[in-house]
Amino acid sequence: MSPVVVIGAGINGAALARELALSGVDTVVIDSADIGSGTTAYSSRLVHGGLRYLEFGDTELVHESLAERERLVTLAPDFVQPLEFRVPCERRLGGMIDGLGKLLLGGKYKARSKRGMWAVRFGLFWYDWLARGSSLPKARAVRIDGNYPHPPAARYRWVCAYSDAQMRSPEQFTVGLLEDARAAAQAAGTTFAVQNYCQVSRRGSKLVAESTTGLPPAEYEPAAIVNAGGPWGDDVARALGIEHRPMLAGTKGSHIVVFREDLREALGGAAYYAEASDGRPVFILPFGDGATLIGTTDLPYVGDPAEAVASEAEIDYLLKLSNDVLPRCPLTRADVAVHYSGVRPLPASDAKTPAAITRRHAIVEHSGLPWPAWSLVGGKLTTCRSLAEEAATAVLKRLDRSHSPLSRTRPIPRAVALADDEATSELVVGRKFTVDAVRAIIRTQWVRTLDDLVERRLMLLFARELRRETLESLAQLLVEEGVLAPDMRDAAVATTVERLRTHFGRSL
Ligand SMILES: Cc1cc2nc3c(=O)[nH]c(=O)nc-3n(C[C@H](O)[C@H](O)[C@H](O)COP(=O)(O)OP(=O)(O)OC[C@H]3O[C@@H](n4cnc5c(N)ncnc54)[C@H](O)[C@@H]3O)c2cc1C
Repeated sequence: MSPVVVIGAGINGAALARELALSGVDTVVIDSADIGSGTTAYSSRLVHGGLRYLEFGDTELVHESLAERERLVTLAPDFVQPLEFRVPCERRLGGMIDGLGKLLLGGKYKARSKRGMWAVRFGLFWYDWLARGSSLPKARAVRIDGNYPHPPAARYRWVCAYSDAQMRSPEQFTVGLLEDARAAAQAAGTTFAVQNYCQVSRRGSKLVAESTTGLPPAEYEPAAIVNAGGPWGDDVARALGIEHRPMLAGTKGSHIVVFREDLREALGGAAYYAEASDGRPVFILPFGDGATLIGTTDLPYVGDPAEAVASEAEIDYLLKLSNDVLPRCPLTRADVAVHYSGVRPLPASDAKTPAAITRRHAIVEHSGLPWPAWSLVGGKLTTCRSLAEEAATAVLKRLDRSHSPLSRTRPIPRAVALADDEATSELVVGRKFTVDAVRAIIRTQWVRTLDDLVERRLMLLFARELRRETLESLAQLLVEEGVLAPDMRDAAVATTVERLRTHFGRSL
């Protein structure tokens, strides 16, 4: 059978490919870069209902997201863990009228006062109600007094605590989705292929994928195609000759990562969800290995999403917010170990502010192509499975096939354990990864470059210590596994070091 081709191997493309593979459909996924290297690698890494969307009256989206949160916590515990969030409040009242104003008028309403404890409590009560049946603890309000163990700034008198979840590595989760899809296809005897670093183009009724890393080109006569190009969705559509109005209008969001033990202690294992001076909610999140992740901003963005970098103004804004909420752990620019910036694939909209643009997804069907074709517009990490289910239903209906969404109950395990505590085998220089585990990742997880290993498969980008020697030993493993030519090893290390510096502000 001709395959369904998914263009874009971000979290949404990967979830869709898995959904199709689970339905016994031959599937090919093509990405012009690496798996999970688009917006998926630049988010706040939360699996959440989206408390903020309640103010815009988007209960349907919140309800769907909370149901998916529960599924991910249950089915993918290797990747998604529950996390307590604390909303610090200065006063008992306030924010109710603003909340109502936003609910009735959406983005047109301009909030005037900070959210008080009762307004937050009301929102959280509603949130818990929409999540009814969830395994996560319910919200509660705590008065900050002398016994409160981790007090934020003195002006705060209450903390409202509630539950959501964190996916620390959407990059690895996306690979996990594709690995599970491959396993399902193997079991069913169907075809499943992932082609990263391939440019797609159309030649008559054929779709051509040309490798940019020296692999032979491939040609397909697809049964259908789905554009899962995230914020590049309009570019993908243009490359395929799809005539359409602009579907997307991205906004940029930046994050910083700091390694400060006192800040981690102040968080006490939970996250803060606080209001910045401009009323925007910002997260201060524990982020493994002694790190704290702080984000995000929300600014209009024009240009190639791959080139989005956090500006000094955004970094200052995030530092100021953290210092405002937790002044006992004052951060300076020197504490910023890593920064990153991503572009949200939001639907084109005439909303007054970026925050007011809906976070709902849409599945747009195209006509005039040799094959049935759709574009995925919008979506969140949290709702990748439900978006995939909806898109697969549309595709399978057109192919006259039925769809029973096995993804609703199928676990997503981590296929390769990175380090074995009992391991006596050789370790990669300076790291706890066993050489065997890294070799297995290179062989089975579609690794094509040193950046793939450093930024996405091993997540070394966010490790407290990262040494050039580690990059050199990883590059050597890529050479030994036949992925990198021996004479390219030093150049690959130099390219990675330079990208870490210019794109992420990380100096080795
Ligand atoms: C700052 C920020 C914070 C966020 N926080 C959260 C959060 O906490 N929780 C949450 O649920 N969601 C969050 N999101 C949203 C979420 O990250 C995105 O909606 C999601 O990652 C989009 O995934 P995607 O697969 O649609 O797109 P992408 O991840 O961008 O994938 C698109 C893929 O298409 C590929 N591509 C591009 N052009 C081509 C081409 N011509 N041919 C082939 N392939 C191509 C790219 O290389 C890329 O891999 C956040 C987003 C941002 C920006």
